[in-house]
Amino acid sequence: MGEVTQAATCAHCGKSIALKHSGPCPACGKEGKNIYVEIKESIEVHSSLQWETKKEYYKKHKGAAVTVIAISVLSPFIGLFLAGPAGVIVGLGLSGIAYYFGPKAVTKIIEITKGHA
Ligand SMILES: [Zn+2]
Repeated sequence: MGEVTQAATCAHCGKSIALKHSGPCPACGKEGKNIYVEIKESIEVHSSLQWETKKEYYKKHKGAAVTVIAISVLSPFIGLFLAGPAGVIVGLGLSGIAYYFGPKAVTKIIEITKGHA
């Protein structure tokens, strides 16, 4: 039922490139790619008179997820080295960054289509 789609695009010009492609972009020649992982769950409800299709998308943004994980892993070590008020201020700053990036790490999109047969 679930369908996982992986796609990669050039980070500079947005051209679709092979997931395993490495090296410069074939279109613009610059290096760097964005990887998208899309998990589709499709639930279809059929009745005699109407139909409804509900699709849920989870889009993972790799960069944001990595940032959140990095902050989670690094925070305790920062507390270790920066004791006292400085550590508290840095910790609060990092929490703010994690709060900002957290919702972006996974975006859930629900698409509902309704119609009559
Ligand atoms: Zn490109």
